[in-house]
Amino acid sequence: MLKGKTTLITGASRGIGKGIAELFAKNGSNIAFTFASSVEKARAFEQELQQTYGIKAIGYQSDASDFNAAQILADQVVADFGTIDVLINNAGITKDTLLMRMSEEQWDAVINTNLKSTFNLTKACLKTFLKNRAGSIINMSSVVGVTGNAGQANYAASKAGMIGFTKSVAKELGSRNVRCNAIAPGFIETEMTATLDEGVRKTWTETIPLKRGGSTEDVANACLFLASEMSAYITGQTINVCGGMVM
Ligand code: NAP
Repeated sequence: MLKGKTTLITGASRGIGKGIAELFAKNGSNIAFTFASSVEKARAFEQELQQTYGIKAIGYQSDASDFNAAQILADQVVADFGTIDVLINNAGITKDTLLMRMSEEQWDAVINTNLKSTFNLTKACLKTFLKNRAGSIINMSSVVGVTGNAGQANYAASKAGMIGFTKSVAKELGSRNVRCNAIAPGFIETEMTATLDEGVRKTWTETIPLKRGGSTEDVANACLFLASEMSAYITGQTINVCGGMVM
């Protein structure tokens, strides 16, 4: 579905980003991915993608929250791959605590890594998309950005911000054939959710109509749809991938 395309994914050394990279590589896309600190994991994954799927794959250590680093990254990806067809703003962190205890540092870290990064990378890739008169941008939001969640005011605000950003970019760039959509995953089994205690996990899964947490592949499948021509007439939308948790 993506043969010969180049996809740039932020935060793909593990978790959802890694799952997306695997599925996209399987579907013929070359993969440029970033990570924050997992150097060894990223190098091994680069090799794995190349050897398993026969595509070009490069991992870049680049802080998505850094505006200048995003510009340098996008230029380097174009130099290495020739172009960028799909951008997935996936890198994200949580620093959960009640508002009463939330520090300025916890607020800033989450807003900068989750929301500002989306601005940084989208802006950095814009020139290439406009030149190509084509592009698909996918922003990894969260159901929490739609519903809010106690103890996650910083995270929910960052993810709601991504949805507003997505709709605005879709309106600005639609006439240039550049599409922008968001995905709002629910409870997905990754390192981010592995730290939750058993009781919380049990309550989550019991309240999900499909009665299970999602896999990284569940999210990757929605991304594949939004990246491919199958979604050619879809922009500005948010797809909840949450087993029916939010309707
Ligand atoms: P994860 O397992 O914690 O992986 C996070 C990834 O982001 C890692 O590759 C990490 O790199 C990278 N990263 C973190 N900060 C970065 C930065 N400043 N610059 C570049 N890369 C950075 O997380 P996940 O569960 O896969 O989540 C991926 C996305 O989905 C996030 O945006 C998250 O908010 C969203 N999401 C997740 C769930 C869920 O249930 N898991 C639900 C809704 C939304 P290193 O390995 O180097 O640290």
